[in-house]
Amino acid sequence: MPALQKNFSLLPYNTFGIDAKAEWFFPVSSAEKLIEFLADNAFLKHQKRLILGGGSNVLFTSDVEGVVLYNQIKGIRVVAEDEKSVFVQAGAGEVWHELVLHCLEKNWGGIENLSLIPGSVGASPIQNIGAYGVELKDIFHSLEAIQLETGKRETFSHAACRFGYRDSIFKREAKGKYFICSVTLQLSKIHQLNTSYGAIQSELTEMGIQKPSIQDISRAVINIRQSKLPDPAVIGNGGSFFKNPVVESAHLQQLQQEFPNIPHYPQPDGRQKLAAGWLIEQAGWKGKRLGNHGVHDRQALVLVNYGGATGSEILDLAQKIQAAVSAAFDVQLETEVNIV
Ligand SMILES: Cc1cc2nc3c(=O)[nH]c(=O)nc-3n(C[C@H](O)[C@H](O)[C@H](O)COP(=O)(O)OP(=O)(O)OC[C@H]3O[C@@H](n4cnc5c(N)ncnc54)[C@H](O)[C@@H]3O)c2cc1C
Repeated sequence: MPALQKNFSLLPYNTFGIDAKAEWFFPVSSAEKLIEFLADNAFLKHQKRLILGGGSNVLFTSDVEGVVLYNQIKGIRVVAEDEKSVFVQAGAGEVWHELVLHCLEKNWGGIENLSLIPGSVGASPIQNIGAYGVELKDIFHSLEAIQLETGKRETFSHAACRFGYRDSIFKREAKGKYFICSVTLQLSKIHQLNTSYGAIQSELTEMGIQKPSIQDISRAVINIRQSKLPDPAVIGNGGSFFKNPVVESAHLQQLQQEFPNIPHYPQPDGRQKLAAGWLIEQAGWKGKRLGNHGVHDRQALVLVNYGGATGSEILDLAQKIQAAVSAAFDVQLETEVNIV
């Protein structure tokens, strides 16, 4: 791919399939190239910058002003190991699921429940990706990043990332300030399996597996995900559009009087997590289609582009859903997808 390009179409670079343009587009193949690029291009100091990985968690609502830094930093290596653990460092431009498959092939565990999540390794800490009872924070060791203002390298420990539910420091104080270049994971050689969440156990039973390996769990997760979630290669989407909201327990009790079957999951701090998909379905939005975009008919949390929708049309739909859920339940849905 050539270096800096102007008026570059981002259509193939986002899973929503939005036809937006980047004013400038620069593929970053190494940390050194990025440092050099930041130092050599003085005009960049005054430009907006957007870091892009697999584009599976962004919604472009207009053309992107300034420069898009497209992460292409590759490489997977073991940096340390002992009899129980292996520390694996992956370039941020590696495809997340390819890293998962690589680790499973080596029989390194802890990552199997996170199979088939789209996107890049570098974006995985941003929202602390999670699925089937495991979050990145459970296997994360540290990351290396470049501060975009200074061009300096920095290491972030687990504590420094301040992980939360679909959250980290990179969605808050450090938003847009750091380019993550590599992520180091601590994986197990002696495995602790996590099959309690969702349909994993029943899928394993259906697969005829009684004593699962980490590779079996990965296959079960892949089967479930493929049957439940729309494939962005077939229909444009960004996965779950909203986070599951967390409410005070008094609020839940109030809601239970009117909706006795409302799904809820107790949190360590005493609050309750609600299922955003259930709320959206109850508010009447599941499967609704507005021309070329809408709400998926099997998964109410997923907004889809049937082809040719603009990001602002999808954002408008998201805002209508937020208003409907707020009116019905007095619950504010926060977007999980990054609106650009
Ligand atoms: C079908 C589908 C299913 C999904 N399922 C899940 C799921 O189960 N669990 C889950 O947690 N997520 C899920 N997602 C969301 C998505 O896969 C994750 O958020 C993923 O980590 C995004 O990676 P990406 O490389 O595509 O990031 P992008 O969309 O390119 O970027 C996302 C954000 O991260 C920033 N960013 C990206 N790379 C870097 C970097 N190197 N340094 C600094 N900032 C960076 C971007 O600026 C942007 O703000 C799903 C998405 C889809 C489409």
